[in-house]
Amino acid sequence: MDISIVIPLLNEQESLPELTSWIEKVMLSQHYNYEIIFVDDGSTDSSWKVIEELQSKNPHIKGIKFQRNYGKSAALNEGFRAANGDVVITMDADLQDSPDEIPELFRMIKEGNYDIVSGWKKKRYDNTLTKNIPSKLFNLAARKMSKINLHDFNCGLKAYKKNVVKSIEVYGEMHRYVPVLAKWAGFRKIGEKVVTHQARKYGTTKFGMSRFINGFLDLLTIFFVGKFGKRPMHFFGLWGTVSFMIGLAIFIWLSISKFFFDVTGMTQRPLFFFAILGMIIGTQLFLAGFLGELISRNSPERNNYLIEKKLGL
Ligand code: UDP
Ligand code: MG
Repeated sequence: MDISIVIPLLNEQESLPELTSWIEKVMLSQHYNYEIIFVDDGSTDSSWKVIEELQSKNPHIKGIKFQRNYGKSAALNEGFRAANGDVVITMDADLQDSPDEIPELFRMIKEGNYDIVSGWKKKRYDNTLTKNIPSKLFNLAARKMSKINLHDFNCGLKAYKKNVVKSIEVYGEMHRYVPVLAKWAGFRKIGEKVVTHQARKYGTTKFGMSRFINGFLDLLTIFFVGKFGKRPMHFFGLWGTVSFMIGLAIFIWLSISKFFFDVTGMTQRPLFFFAILGMIIGTQLFLAGFLGELISRNSPERNNYLIEKKLGL
C-alpha cells in the first residue's frame, strides 16, 4: 500500500462527503494504492453514520470510532496504529487542508527521503487576532526549544514515513508536537512544504484560546522529558546540590561571624533566611531527582531503543 490518510474528526458530518470525494479524485488521478482511515473522536452528530455510508461505497475507507471524545492526539495515535501505507498522511477533516497537496507530500517522502514533511499554512484563513498572532509566538517558542526549523508545528496536514508513526506515541495533547516526538525518536530529516489553507466551511473550531496555554505547558513538558526524562538526577541533582551548597556556605559564614567575631542579630538578617531557604530547596530538588530516578528505573520502557540495524545475528 502506498498511502494511508489518517483523518481525526469530531463532529464534522457536513465536511466528510466532500472531503472523501476530493481525496478519491486525487488518489485516482495518481493511481495510488491507498486507504483512508477516519478516526471518529466521539462525535455526537451523525459523523459515524456518514462514514459508514461512505465506506459502503468505497472499500478503501476504514473507520475507527471512539466511545467518547479522547482528543485529537488519541485519534491520531489510533490512526497511526492502524495505518498500513508506506507513507502516512494526516489531515484535518474540516476541509481546511487540501488533498491536492498529497501527491507532492508523497513525493517528498518517497524521493526526497524525508522522514516527515510538515505543512506550512503560510497564508491562513483563520481569525487574525485570536489565532495568528499567538500562533506565531507559539511556533517561535517551539522552534527555539526543539531546534526544529518549522514555521507551523500545529498544521494538521503532515506526511510521515511509516517507520516514524510506528515508533512514536502521541498522547495527551501532543499532536502539536509530533515532529518533536519524532526527533526525540531519532528521525532527523524533517522538511516543510507550504500548503494552501482555506476558511472553515462547515462547523466550528474545536479548540479555543486554551490551546495556547496548554500548548505552551506541553512544550515545556516535552522539552524537559526529552532532555531529562531518563536521567532526572542530572537536572534536579545538579541544581539541588548547587542550592544546598550556597545555603550551607552562607550558613557557615554566618556561624563563624557569630561565634568568632561576636556579630549579633543574626536571625534578623536576610542572609540568614537565604541560607535556610537554599538548604531546604536544595534538599527538595535533590529528593525530587532521586524519586525521579527510582521511577524511571522502574519504567518498562527504560531500555526501549529504536534500533535500525543489528549486525551479525
Ligand atoms: N478534532 C478531533 N478531536 C478533538 C478536536 C478536534 O478529532 O477533540 C479534529 C477536528 O474534527 C478536525 C481537526 O481535529 O478534523 C482539527 O480541529 P479544528 O479544525 O477544530 O482545529 P483548528 O483548525 O481550529 O486548529
Ligand atoms: Mg480546522
